[in-house]
Amino acid sequence: MGSVSSPNPAAASSAPLTLRLPALQTSPKYIFFTDFDGTITQQDSNDFLTDNLGYGAAKRKGGNQDVLSGRRHFRDIFQEMMDSISTPYDQCIDQLLKNITLDEGFKEFFYWARENNVPIVVLSGGMEPIIRALLGHFLGKDEADTLQIVSNDVAPRPGKSLNDEGGWQIVFHDASGFGHDKSIEIRPYADLPENERPVLFYAGDGVSDLSAAKETDLLFAKAARDLVTYCENEHVPFTTFEDFSEILSTVKDIVAGKLSVKDAATGRK
Ligand SMILES: [Mg+2]
Repeated sequence: MGSVSSPNPAAASSAPLTLRLPALQTSPKYIFFTDFDGTITQQDSNDFLTDNLGYGAAKRKGGNQDVLSGRRHFRDIFQEMMDSISTPYDQCIDQLLKNITLDEGFKEFFYWARENNVPIVVLSGGMEPIIRALLGHFLGKDEADTLQIVSNDVAPRPGKSLNDEGGWQIVFHDASGFGHDKSIEIRPYADLPENERPVLFYAGDGVSDLSAAKETDLLFAKAARDLVTYCENEHVPFTTFEDFSEILSTVKDIVAGKLSVKDAATGRK
């Protein structure tokens, strides 16, 4: 559950291309990969849970600094964040539905992308049931179900159910130090032969995006967030965005041939 990428190379190589690379199904010329928390949404749902129901913002921010400076793995600090929350899972989801809001430009971007055959693939370090609940709430369930989501997941702790006090734990997507190494999903698309390879976009805001930052043709990094600093330090070309209306305008120009991905990577504005 929660993963569309196959961990089994033998199974992967015998499966049809569109099963292994589901975003190719409609033969798109562009694919838009995106983070969920703090990118599609205005607040990060995991940060919200940690700050309000778990060990608090100060400890969380310290952990993020440790990841950015390379002292600790994201996986480990994220596990600690989630382990600090004992609120039943259904109550966590209720809290998030009341407090998390959608990026102001995302709905318009979503419909434009669907009209123009630009598949959106959500790559998230968050947990799939929360992402599905929030997207269903924002877009309607049928619309939300059209989005491919590759993320971490949740499972009951031994002898408990998700909705018990202390009843749930995060289940990571893969064995990487990121918990979910987002490059695993992007790289098979990036490695396609040049004449079959769509142009790849990525949008993100923070430490969960470090694994994806170097993989696509154009990276949109949320203004004034951790990912901007990281891209500058690592010399990853990027452009910033405040909300998805800016992303939409840039992607429209690229699709119309008015702007190249290279010229769009203007760095910090
Ligand atoms: Mg994020």
